[in-house]
Amino acid sequence: TQFTSPPLDNLLVENIKLARFNKPTPIQKYSIPIVNQGRDLMACAQTGSGKTDAFLFPILSKAFSLGPSINNNNDNDNDANQYNKISKYRAKNIKPIILILAPTRELANQIFEEARKFSYRSWIRPCVVYGGTNIFTQMKNLENGSQLLVATPGRLNDLMERGKISLSNIKYLILDEADRMLDMGFELQIRQIVEHYDMPIATSRQTLMFSATFPSNIQNLAGDFLNDYIFLSV
Ligand code: AMP
Repeated sequence: TQFTSPPLDNLLVENIKLARFNKPTPIQKYSIPIVNQGRDLMACAQTGSGKTDAFLFPILSKAFSLGPSINNNNDNDNDANQYNKISKYRAKNIKPIILILAPTRELANQIFEEARKFSYRSWIRPCVVYGGTNIFTQMKNLENGSQLLVATPGRLNDLMERGKISLSNIKYLILDEADRMLDMGFELQIRQIVEHYDMPIATSRQTLMFSATFPSNIQNLAGDFLNDYIFLSV
């Protein structure tokens, strides 16, 4: 498959094969090497371009290598034992390393489903939180640990204020459909999250912004949140 060049984690390549994706879309072809190199990115791309996987693939690929591997066949553990080990590892880590902000519940769910599909058999447990639904059910689910959190800004702030989520371990921050989030009036909510004292500063995390348009308010946000970023438009 063409997803091996530029290189992605082996387990991820297997999961991409399972999804029957033959080749990267243009946005994926350009974003993967940029994200692999650790650069911040401002990408202008429309829905349907494969933009979700343009950030998920390289981010998951990097995140897979941060945790314990379940494909490590050097010992004689059976699958159940390996799974138990990973569950324990998960339970200890209640701070996500990947945070994806999205404007709506629908988009958040789509990203979550895509993240679940491609993190199959990895140590990454994706979770999704959004408003308009029972917060206690979401809190219960989060107690099992989550390395990848997809969230709408309002609900995330609520959970942070309740002390249920800490951002101090964030290594990868993604803002999807940033223009739509601003149109919906989320700028203050987004700033409360990205500029929170718990959130690692721009030079200590990798930040990706995706937007269909690039008006001045998005340029300002990019200037404030991204570190020496690459601009990509497809
Ligand atoms: P998006 O632009 O993120 O809304 O993605 C549009 C749809 O394209 C989603 O259903 C993806 O699962 C699918 N998709 C993304 N990348 C690829 C690819 N490389 N090959 C085939 N389908 C893809």
